[in-house]
Amino acid sequence: MNAHEQRKETVIRQLNSNADIGLNDGQVAERLDTYGKNKLEDKKKAPLIARFFAQMNDFMIIVLLAAAAISLFISHIHGDNDYIDAVIILAIVTLNAVLGLVQESKAEKALEALKKLSAPSAKALRNGTVSVLDAELIVPGDIILLEAGCYVPADARLITSHNLMAEESALTGESVPTEKDADTVVPETSALGDRKNIVFSGTSISYGRATAVVTGTGMRTEVGKIAAGIMQSETPDTPLQKKLAHTGKILGIIALCICGIIFVAGVLRSIPPFDMFMTSVSLAVAAIPEGLPAIVTVMLAIGVQKMAGHNAVIRKLPAVETLGQATVICSDKTGTLTQNKMTVERVTDGFKTLESNNEHRREILKFAALCTDCVQDKDAYIGDPTEIALVKAAEASGLNKSRLEIDYVRVSELPFESKRKLMSVTLKNGTEFITVTKGAPDVLLGRCTLYSALGRENPLNEEARRRISAANALMAQDALRVIAVAYRRFESFSGGMTSEKSETELVFLGLVGMEDPPRDEAFEAVRVCKEAGIKPVMITGDHVLTATATAKKLGILSAGDKALTGDELSKMSEQELFDRIYDYSVFARVSPENKLQIVRAFQKHGETVAMTGDGVNDAPALKAADIGCAMGISGTDTAKAAADIILTDDNFATIVSAIEEGRGIYENIKKSVHFLLSSNIGEIITIFAAILLGWKSPLTAIQLLWVNLVTDSLPAIALGLDPNSHDIMRKKPYSAEKSLFSGGLWQKIFFEGGMIGMLALIGFGIGTIFFDAPGRHFVGSTMAFATLSISQLVHAFNMRSEGSIFNLNPLGNIYLVGALIAGIILQISVITIKPLAAVFKVSSLEPKEWLVVAFLCIMPIIIVEIEKALSSGKEEKAAGGIRLKKRA
Ligand code: ATP
Repeated sequence: MNAHEQRKETVIRQLNSNADIGLNDGQVAERLDTYGKNKLEDKKKAPLIARFFAQMNDFMIIVLLAAAAISLFISHIHGDNDYIDAVIILAIVTLNAVLGLVQESKAEKALEALKKLSAPSAKALRNGTVSVLDAELIVPGDIILLEAGCYVPADARLITSHNLMAEESALTGESVPTEKDADTVVPETSALGDRKNIVFSGTSISYGRATAVVTGTGMRTEVGKIAAGIMQSETPDTPLQKKLAHTGKILGIIALCICGIIFVAGVLRSIPPFDMFMTSVSLAVAAIPEGLPAIVTVMLAIGVQKMAGHNAVIRKLPAVETLGQATVICSDKTGTLTQNKMTVERVTDGFKTLESNNEHRREILKFAALCTDCVQDKDAYIGDPTEIALVKAAEASGLNKSRLEIDYVRVSELPFESKRKLMSVTLKNGTEFITVTKGAPDVLLGRCTLYSALGRENPLNEEARRRISAANALMAQDALRVIAVAYRRFESFSGGMTSEKSETELVFLGLVGMEDPPRDEAFEAVRVCKEAGIKPVMITGDHVLTATATAKKLGILSAGDKALTGDELSKMSEQELFDRIYDYSVFARVSPENKLQIVRAFQKHGETVAMTGDGVNDAPALKAADIGCAMGISGTDTAKAAADIILTDDNFATIVSAIEEGRGIYENIKKSVHFLLSSNIGEIITIFAAILLGWKSPLTAIQLLWVNLVTDSLPAIALGLDPNSHDIMRKKPYSAEKSLFSGGLWQKIFFEGGMIGMLALIGFGIGTIFFDAPGRHFVGSTMAFATLSISQLVHAFNMRSEGSIFNLNPLGNIYLVGALIAGIILQISVITIKPLAAVFKVSSLEPKEWLVVAFLCIMPIIIVEIEKALSSGKEEKAAGGIRLKKRA
């Protein structure tokens, strides 16, 4: 029999569970053994050998392999049995594929670890206590607790439900949330969408609360049936990866054309066509920047790992890039800018402050505590910090929530919603029913008709309203978060509450003011933001005066900035909001829809907006923002699913440090690309110029491949690990519209490529003219080979800063130093170790020749330092202003 056609008691019995205490540890272990983890099976990974060959599925590698085959064939025909070229090419291709495979699996591992970090959790009742656990550990028979915003971790039969609505579009296609009810039983044949007493794995709760017993986990759920094996999504390429792949393609075509010309020119200069063919192909392989997107992938993966270490879990890879471009951060107040450690500071009846032994004060705290959802777990309370503060304050007045609940039994409730800003419960006390409502004073006062003072209920006239509002404002100005409490008595209760019926004609009881100090690190983070050209904006559901007071303390609201309320915002036209959006740094009493309007208004100005959110209704704003940041602790599953980043510590400062990291990654990608392209161009120019000058080719095919593999790859990766420059947060944000190559990067790349090419040619020329002698044939090409490779290693250091590198710690990037040393040792080895020298067709060099090479290899530092010094004056004039102009 199916769970939906049976009564809940029967289902619980059949699953051998208990609705009051849940499963015990023994049962859980046994069921985990039997049913396995509660997860959908992943798509099978391709075997290693297939992934290895996939690495070779690249146009240039195929060209190279074809060249090797042709070389073998020609050697065979000539009968000279010189297979060395072919063997070396094969070795290099294999090494390339292995390196590619290692990088790819590293990146994959980093991303997988991330998926684990952002895996959903579930609240379950086990051994009589409620705990939050990894959703994968849920087993059939578990009693789970569900509330608005959480994901349903497994298929489950409802046991209790309060105004429960579930969003099941992923499963049924129904876009409107479906009402759910624990007390119904539906026929066996009913469709999934009609099973009102069942909640399904992978759907989410949009409203209300419930408890349920798990009936199916993992692949034994409805979603498991549909999704068998197709759940794992591929990570799409990021915009930068796509752009670089495109740039790489264009450069590749240009390089191929040049290689064609070099081939023809070489043959015309009567260089043997076979040698020229091998040189052209190797040059094409060396010069075509096929590795660009791969470098970006590796760097993004490294960045993602670093950020996870700093409490920012990236859910969508493009966010790493977008972070570096952020220009506006819209942040929640409570818990993100403040500590979310609330303590009740002041209680008033709306007219005067009530001392701790006052009876009216005890009455306010009693009802406030009864109208909360927090639960006691040993000595601590679990729940919303606002509510915990209320329960603790009641406790301090000798009123224990659990004991109060013996006399006041909750019969119904309307959960807190940030849109309504109210929460209500109906309690049964003896024969009487009482509805208690707590919430934002300005909203709640509008629902009251009487107020309670001196043990009497008095009409709430205009004068009383004005005085209560003034008392509220006074508390809010002191940065207190204020909650109002009211009640209404009923003689009978017919079941079911609605806001229209139950939250009207209330009796106002009093105000509770709570202190929530700003986070210490938020002060510095706000300062850094402003210096970095990022506008920090506070968006809160709290009162405008509370928000303003906190924003002033933090420095978000400075002279000339204004605060706007959600009501005022809603009255503005789209155009008005667009025109005036920069005037405001604080938006108070906003609804989730307002958040969306704010994001859009900033975006229309071309800003890149980061937005925080935690509630169910924040999902649209989080999706619309360029960087949606969900709260890891207080955030709902719905918010997390919509976000690009999860802040595991709910902290504003974490966004700022993630932005810093994002900027660093962008800079490092730029450094690697700059380095790789200038090196590639250097190689092309060396060969091209030599052929044009009527010389023989300075480098052999194998030498070119060596330079490409060893001296290019190591520094490119090391540059990806360069520490962030100290002034990275003192620069303006990168513009999203501008390309990586804007700001004169192409000119620099060509200039520096030309410089490297010239140095190699000078080495070649000096060696050939002065040192080549009978018996020492290859001195010129050996010097060109050594100069090309080592000058590139040295040139990599130029990438570390746009300013002079003499202002940096030379050992600041230890990986780059390692790459330099390793590269030089390898280079010297192939020249000095005899068998290697024979393979590479090089001659050993004498000290004076090494001296010339060393002199040439130092030149990139000197030349680029001069280039930087000359261009810095120009750049300073050109920089600045773009965004500032917009804000003026
Ligand atoms: P932020 O958006 O910065 O996190 P917030 O947490 O203050 O701000 P909401 O949670 O929407 O925003 O709260 C808005 C108002 O609703 C608060 O100022 C308070 O008066 C009231 N409120 C907050 N929590 C509760 C609650 N649990 N029960 C009743 N009223 C509440």
